[in-house]
Amino acid sequence: MREIGWAARGACRTSDPELFFPPAQSDEHEARAKAVCERCPVLQECRAYAVRAAEPEGIWGGLTVRERRGLRFSGDRRRAAAS
Ligand code: SF4
Repeated sequence: MREIGWAARGACRTSDPELFFPPAQSDEHEARAKAVCERCPVLQECRAYAVRAAEPEGIWGGLTVRERRGLRFSGDRRRAAAS
């Protein structure tokens, strides 16, 4: 599914891409995609990549765009507080 080294081991590699990039917001799609991510051996790599790259769409590492933005924002605030 995704052209990044670790992605070859992703649990989603044989899934329908629309499950992870649905054409419209759908709680059912989101839950089904997250269920695949839960059993993925590269969840942490995928999540770290997507947060770092600010992937603008889709479910990556078991997180939605909004959830990833929240992680990035909280990380930015922690770094700002430490400096
Ligand atoms: S964590 Fe989810 S989106 Fe990422 S590679 Fe695994 S199954 Fe695919």
